[in-house]
Amino acid sequence: MAEKLTAVKGMNDILPPDSARWEWLEGKVRSLMGLYAYRNIRTPIVEPTSLFVRGLGEVTDIVEKEMYSFEDRLNGEALTLRPENTAGVVRAVVEHSMLYEGGKRLYYMGPMFRHERPQRGRYRQFHQIGAEALGFAGAEVDAELILLADALWKELGLKDVRLELNSLGQPEERKQHRAALIAYLEANNEVLDDEARRRLHSNPLRILDSKNPLMQAMLEQAPKLMSFLGAASLAHFNRVKDILDAHGISYRINPRLVRGMDYYNLTVFEFVTESLGSQGTICGGGRYDYLIEQIGGKAAPAVGWALGVERVLELIREQGQTVDIPAPDAYAVIPDAQTLPAALRVLTALRSAGVSVQMHAGANADGMGSMKSQFKKADGSGARFALIFGVDEFAQGCVAVKPLRGSKTGSAEAQTLQRLDDAAGWAHVLRS
Ligand code: ATP
Ligand code: MG
Repeated sequence: MAEKLTAVKGMNDILPPDSARWEWLEGKVRSLMGLYAYRNIRTPIVEPTSLFVRGLGEVTDIVEKEMYSFEDRLNGEALTLRPENTAGVVRAVVEHSMLYEGGKRLYYMGPMFRHERPQRGRYRQFHQIGAEALGFAGAEVDAELILLADALWKELGLKDVRLELNSLGQPEERKQHRAALIAYLEANNEVLDDEARRRLHSNPLRILDSKNPLMQAMLEQAPKLMSFLGAASLAHFNRVKDILDAHGISYRINPRLVRGMDYYNLTVFEFVTESLGSQGTICGGGRYDYLIEQIGGKAAPAVGWALGVERVLELIREQGQTVDIPAPDAYAVIPDAQTLPAALRVLTALRSAGVSVQMHAGANADGMGSMKSQFKKADGSGARFALIFGVDEFAQGCVAVKPLRGSKTGSAEAQTLQRLDDAAGWAHVLRS
């Protein structure tokens, strides 16, 4: 035998029946996005590397060490598997002048790629669902996006998801804070770890995000960006909070919340749970009013979030919530191959009437397989009914319908004969 091939480390197959949970989640997202009038956008998985370098910032975890970048062998182009999709959406919005007639509300779903150490809730190919509102400056859109995410948690039955909120202000305010922060960190140089020393002058804000326990006490006392915010930034932040308060959405202000990409300003937020260990952030986002211009578009404000599908599904599982795994309504038992062509026409009629039927397929050179083995397969399929296309009944234009679940008392007796020409008539019984 040839050597077995396996998937790339950190990249997972999503198989049935688990894939049903993914479809269930995606279905909920689609209808909710429709209710909030967000429209679907689909952009390529591969983008020019420069998009992410320019968009995310050079001194970010993603650009420094997590991107799958490669050179196109045929034309030498520098390409990258998208590590996130805000930059791609902005590129598309600019490329197609989508903001020409006003703001756009968009959402996407799909795989992202980051070369990280695989562990629970952290993969190299993972999936995000994201919502972006582009061309809107007002705090009400920040709030709308948070309400949308909150509505999604409710729709999915998630409990104990905490909202953390912060404001990063505007670039000028950050510059002043940055100077104060660098001075403070320099004064505490002996407590800094290597990573922090390296980032001291390139991206000191990110040091606040460090999880190193030895630095926590020192970081608690560091100058807070919030105290450098001017009136306009504070007013924006207050409006977001007022709307959330009016909706009874609770949140915690986390002055150390800075997010991993450089493109954020003003509002940033994360939805966090304690139930997933250290990979507890299920969704993160914020305002990115300067990204569109940075990617070559006409300056326009924007705000958005992205959630991690694997983490959300894991949380649903962790909280013991069950998702219906689909089973066919009926399983077609076909004792003799001679009735197969005609039986298939009945199955097609049933499917047109909305009944899902699994056809028995066990054919080998000598026929369809024994009744016993066919019934075993019918049971295993999870179907509620078996349709038995017996030769004699079929010759008289009938098919036997036998319940497979529920009726414990003599299910054999529960068997009925149905006239084939009335397939649509008994379809609703099979479906209900
Ligand atoms: P983390 O701090 O956990 O690395 P992040 O700040 O890098 O997260 P974002 O770039 O904000 O994450 O992505 C939004 C969401 O996507 C995260 O909140 C998380 O749920 C999910 N996510 C990010 N990276 C991964 C990954 N490698 N595997 C699975 N999910 C991920
Ligand atoms: Mg990360």
